[in-house]
Amino acid sequence: MAEYANVIVDISLEKLDKTFQYRIPERLSGVIGVGMPVTVPFGARRMRGYVVELTDTAEYDPEKMKEILSVEERGIAIESQLIALAAWMKKNYGGTMNHALKTVMPIKQKKKSVERRTVCLALQPSEAEKKLAEYERKHSTARARLLSELLKEGELEWSLVTQKLNVAGTAVKAMEADGVVRIVSETKYRNPVERFMPREGIKELNEEQQKAVCSVTEDYDAGIRGTYLLKGVTGSGKTEVYMALIAHVLEQGRQAIVLIPEIALTYQTVLRFYSRFGSRVSIMNSRLSPGEKYDQFERAKKGDIDIMIGPRSALFTPFPDLGIIIIDEEHEPSYKSETLPRYHARETAIRRAKMAGASVVLGSATPSVESYYRAMRGEYRLLELRRRVLEKPLPVCEIIDLREELFRGNRSILSDRLSELMEDRLRKGEQTMLFLNRRGMSGFVSCRACGHVIKCPHCDVSLSQHGGAQEGRLVCHYCGYEEPVPKTCPACGSRYISGFKAGTQKIELIVKQRFPGARVLRMDMDTTRSKEGHEQILSAFANREADILIGTQMIVKGHDFPDVTLVGVLAADLSLNVGDYRAPERTFQLLTQAAGRAGRGERPGNVVIQTYTPEHYSIVTAKEQDYEAFYRQEIEYRRLLRYPPVWNLLLILVTSAEEAAAARAAEALADKIKSGGNLLPIGPADAPVAKISDIYRKVIYIKTEDYRTLVEVKDVLEDDIRENGLFKEVSVQFDFNPL
Ligand code: ADP
Ligand code: ZN
Ligand code: ZN
Repeated sequence: MAEYANVIVDISLEKLDKTFQYRIPERLSGVIGVGMPVTVPFGARRMRGYVVELTDTAEYDPEKMKEILSVEERGIAIESQLIALAAWMKKNYGGTMNHALKTVMPIKQKKKSVERRTVCLALQPSEAEKKLAEYERKHSTARARLLSELLKEGELEWSLVTQKLNVAGTAVKAMEADGVVRIVSETKYRNPVERFMPREGIKELNEEQQKAVCSVTEDYDAGIRGTYLLKGVTGSGKTEVYMALIAHVLEQGRQAIVLIPEIALTYQTVLRFYSRFGSRVSIMNSRLSPGEKYDQFERAKKGDIDIMIGPRSALFTPFPDLGIIIIDEEHEPSYKSETLPRYHARETAIRRAKMAGASVVLGSATPSVESYYRAMRGEYRLLELRRRVLEKPLPVCEIIDLREELFRGNRSILSDRLSELMEDRLRKGEQTMLFLNRRGMSGFVSCRACGHVIKCPHCDVSLSQHGGAQEGRLVCHYCGYEEPVPKTCPACGSRYISGFKAGTQKIELIVKQRFPGARVLRMDMDTTRSKEGHEQILSAFANREADILIGTQMIVKGHDFPDVTLVGVLAADLSLNVGDYRAPERTFQLLTQAAGRAGRGERPGNVVIQTYTPEHYSIVTAKEQDYEAFYRQEIEYRRLLRYPPVWNLLLILVTSAEEAAAARAAEALADKIKSGGNLLPIGPADAPVAKISDIYRKVIYIKTEDYRTLVEVKDVLEDDIRENGLFKEVSVQFDFNPL
């Protein structure tokens, strides 16, 4: 039994890391647990606090330590549940309790956040152009400046206008009086969806949907809370199933959380929930400030809302009586946190649901291999939707071998077949999507004579080419380092140095050359940097303002484009050759999703997958849209090579500004693991990116069948790190089943 308890006395304060230690009196020993509300002496007063940790290590003289007075009896508040969840996260994913607490509880801001004001254009663009000319004639330079910026952006934040653009507030108001602009203020507590449309009728579910809903609700009504995997091809009506389940839970006075990858959190999706559930819905996205997030959470706690939709962090919405958690597109890598604690939203959701007595529904057209594996083993219950709702046929998919293309003398990134189909679509006035399954980055530059690759001097990664061929620059995606594209190879002096594989910009150029009349849109990291860029490009394309949309994986989610009848995957190999055991899975998912974009309207679609490895199983099975066939091969490969989900993997990352210190510490950790007996560490070795911003990175991997063994190893190493002087200059992080 632990002797001491670390207690936070006020969770609304900024400093969650400020804990106070108290002795656990005999009579409470064994009763007290993490998360419990307790009463403690604090100065001359008594205060309510929460236990965040139990320990046998006294932080100061135990003689002087005060005792916990009592455990609060009146029910376990939602805070307790979240603190207990934080403790579980710390235990299972590493990091500190403070990191974990900050993840589950948004911090109240002391400063009252000011009202947000924006300035919007109130004129049609053509009228605005005229007005602009008038301002310029009259030398109203400030007003001209604002107007020309608004013509580009549509709306601007008030602070941006008055500070960066240096336009006086009085001038903006005068422009408003003149009908040129509108000043819009948004009150802080405004529900972000309130301005949306009123309710529409509820769709009658088809037989398959009904069956899926019943499987969950029958369990639910019998008091069984399970985890369900809803596998349904795109367009099979999964969202309708989610909504029916939510309605069921709401009827019983409980609440629902819906997780959606940020990238798929579009107006269209949100609208569907809002039109069904009205103002009981709230939305969270990463653009909310910590203060706004806090406000949203307060509304949830007070019972103003029942449904929270958002990315990963919405999982911690403090609903007092949570009934269901839905994770849409459950296979998305964005559900794994990239910062401490490196939790996976799926596992954490299942844990939270268990504490709250809620069910979990995971939905996907291409479930993660992990989830499908668990469903096959009976840990999750599998529910399937096999048909598209409106019986639209799946598109016709063909594979083009780029090696043959080259052999026939076609050196273009567009195969003859793809060009032919694109031309056909342009003629018919139908739309095409070209998909580059590279992860947002443009190509690296290498020498064709000697193979030399240009790398960042600080980060040991290849630099990526941006801008046109002449004035192009090389940029590091980790630290931002830049240099001009060299004219000759720095290693051998050859002039044959160039972008090895085309990025989206390059493809845009090639497409424009090949189809001069076509209207082309491009979507990638560069064109979506501005706040609403992503949404703007997609709606422009949906509104038929372009014939061809070129983009990275960002374009395969969210919007429905009924006029897209051709999808081209330019080089399927780009996501296949990334040196990661999940590459085939990721490739299968991306290809299947990309293919799913074709032919969603009345006309059937075509899909062309270009590749250098047409025989690879992830490509063949994606062409057939055959998930089971993919899974069978993939799980064999994982089993054979001892990868998750069959085995479990722990990555230990050791970083330091001193390479020798990192190396020494990594060696010491590896020795410690070996001395434990039955585990064999892999490494230490340089991380795939061995250096970022001059910080050296070493890695150790451990593989074992049993996840708990890994947690135990982490616990032992954490103790060792705390006590051992070797770790003063280094930082050690744990990552379970890393992505
Ligand atoms: P998924 O989430 O599986 O991709 P959606 O729930 O978005 O599928 O459904 C695809 C389309 O079919 C949507 O436009 C939706 O409104 C419509 N739909 C879904 N279920 C039904 C139904 N039972 N009856 C009529 N239309 C439906
Ligand atoms: Zn060279
Ligand atoms: Zn760099």
